[in-house]
Amino acid sequence: MSGVPQSNPQKSPQKTFYLETFGCQMNVHDSEKVIGTLVQEGYRQVESVEQADLVLYNTCSIRDKAEQKVFNRLSDYKKYKKQGKMFGVLGCVAQQEGEKIFERAPYVSLVAGSASYNNLPQMLQQLEEAELAAREKASLRDDAAVVTTTESTREAGLPPRDAGLVRITGLDDRETDKCFETEFTARSNPHRGYITIIEGCDKFCAYCVVPYTRGKERSRTSESVLAEARQMAHLGYTEIQLLGQNVNSYKDPAGNSSARKTFAELLAAVGEVPGIRRVRFTTSHPRDFGRDIVDAIDAVPALCDHVHLPVQSGSTRVLDAMQRLYTRDQYLERIAWMKAAKREISITTDVIVGFPGETEADFAETLDLLEEVGYDAVFAFKYSPRPNTPSLKLDDAIPDAEKARRLEVLMARQREIQITRYKKYIGTKCEVMVEGRNEARAQWIGRTSHNKTLNFTAPETANPKPGAYVPVIVTGSFPNSLLGELVI
Ligand code: SAM
Ligand code: SF4
Repeated sequence: MSGVPQSNPQKSPQKTFYLETFGCQMNVHDSEKVIGTLVQEGYRQVESVEQADLVLYNTCSIRDKAEQKVFNRLSDYKKYKKQGKMFGVLGCVAQQEGEKIFERAPYVSLVAGSASYNNLPQMLQQLEEAELAAREKASLRDDAAVVTTTESTREAGLPPRDAGLVRITGLDDRETDKCFETEFTARSNPHRGYITIIEGCDKFCAYCVVPYTRGKERSRTSESVLAEARQMAHLGYTEIQLLGQNVNSYKDPAGNSSARKTFAELLAAVGEVPGIRRVRFTTSHPRDFGRDIVDAIDAVPALCDHVHLPVQSGSTRVLDAMQRLYTRDQYLERIAWMKAAKREISITTDVIVGFPGETEADFAETLDLLEEVGYDAVFAFKYSPRPNTPSLKLDDAIPDAEKARRLEVLMARQREIQITRYKKYIGTKCEVMVEGRNEARAQWIGRTSHNKTLNFTAPETANPKPGAYVPVIVTGSFPNSLLGELVI
């Protein structure tokens, strides 16, 4: 499924929903599945809170005071509670804060973590039944005058419901073996799409909430991943991104051991699906990153020459405190495998600065690692203490101003590295997937296999279409993007 999904006409009365997503690609893709599921259940997606019967927030709690942001957003919309709208909080903040959400925002009806999305149709049904009962109660009380109906409740001839009576939770499923597999994914891009291969995480890095919010690690069978990849290819998708918090610890649960695939084998198999021209994967944990992944990239041209391998710190001492399960040298060994590959692999990473106990010397080791690896992009974050995590017990003695200073120093150093690295592409020819057009600059937007943005000009007659693959000669570079001309 792609584009704005059409709702299932079999189900009535038709209800509307608005969904806002915060956070990582996993959340974005979960939202695509939630939208597909809701549409299949007869709901129609709308573009504003005002138009919606059901308002959902798919939340993220990886850093900062994410939960506070959600409560602020909910309180912004408090005014709508009298209109009988229902509010649901999904994702990591829902899992982390649980029923406390009902206490702080009593008009919320649904609180569900990602491990329970499998039960979304049942939860929706419970919600609808409870809502009908609440409406009946409201009409009996004859106080409906204070309650405004939304467009769809009016259309359906239903009395408005009182807000805050219905409470459904999906919070107890983190031990589930099931993944959120649904054939009703509403992908928003018609050319490239995500496929989840593994959910949850068992790594328990000292700073990270993910194992507590997304539950234990569980993989999909390679058979179902490949079936989805073939279906996407059939629908015209040419690029697939395999997703998981830690794709390298993928374990194929296929019953038949001869059919079982390692992650590298699955990667290669997706890359060989007819019609698929590009395969990406994220995120890789260095501990489980095997040489066989590099061999697969060497062997299968459709596998993109880009690997995101989060290092978090260049200091073995800090890595140990973070419980990352590898040393600086082991990380660099993996980098060496990639540098020895037949194609030049672009490497990107994540870094946390100011982890409790990080000294100037540790930080200097991280800066030194940036030079040694030569990353094409670094996503750097100030350490932020998260609920339930082991590092919460450590003394977070590094002041915020010092974390901010380290972040600035690191990003300035990385910018210099990128300026040099991106310059090297000038004069080379790259194939890009056309992503769109920047009218203001009269440029087309393209993406290379290395995952770099390559904006390019083309004669008016060429008119490249989004989704097309075209050759572009690189004529200029910036710290975060390349500039070029279409090769005709
Ligand atoms: N699974 C991935 C891995 O092992 O690297 C990371 C997933 S996490 C959603 C994305 C990034 O957020 C991490 O790589 C880390 O840099 C950052 N992050 C996670 N927890 C953090 C925290 N408490 N404070 C600051 N950054 C954090
Ligand atoms: Fe978080 Fe570590 Fe799991 Fe990544 S591997 S999701 S950083 S616990």
